[in-house]
Amino acid sequence: MTASGAGRRLTTVAAVAVLGIGGSVTAAVPAAAAPAEAAVSAAAAAEVDYATWQKDVKAVIDTATPYVERRTANASGQKLAIVFDIDNTTLETHYTPWYQLPTPAMKPSLELAEYAKSRGVDVFFVTARPGIIESVTEWNLETVGYPVDGLYVRDLPDLFAEVSAYKTASRADIESDGYTIIANVGNNTTDLVGGHAERTFKLPDYDGLLD
Ligand SMILES: [Mg+2]
Repeated sequence: MTASGAGRRLTTVAAVAVLGIGGSVTAAVPAAAAPAEAAVSAAAAAEVDYATWQKDVKAVIDTATPYVERRTANASGQKLAIVFDIDNTTLETHYTPWYQLPTPAMKPSLELAEYAKSRGVDVFFVTARPGIIESVTEWNLETVGYPVDGLYVRDLPDLFAEVSAYKTASRADIESDGYTIIANVGNNTTDLVGGHAERTFKLPDYDGLLD
């Protein structure tokens, strides 16, 4: 969870609390307390239901898969990579309680990653998650079935950089190992801006609701 993500969730819960009691702002104050996290997830998820999210994600992945097929058709000798964001792109973070581990895979994204790997494309993950949870993140990805050829998390200096700048620099680092990044898949604009990928595939974030 990023600090900004937590901020968004707390903001959402405060708004719901205000609506729930007919406009009194006093209800917004307890939203900062820890138990509000659970209420936030439930409230935010109610805004976009799980089935709609699955359908919206699948519609995008259904365009990425034939692209990967075409792009890898005559790619022998090339060192190809695909890059994924993690939260709400490859793992169902928003729709899973934080204490439930492993976080389930986003099935269409898992199938794309497995397909790309089967076509000789190495699979990289670039996440804004801090380095302190790198090992549990890698364990989570592998436990739910992802091939993991590389994982970028934010180290201390990166935590003070713009997320998009950190993610762009991570892709440049992958390229510096001789890879061509054929696709970059993410659900936030900050996952995708900055170049260093032949194609980008934007999954829904519903105006920032999903990290
Ligand atoms: Mg995300």
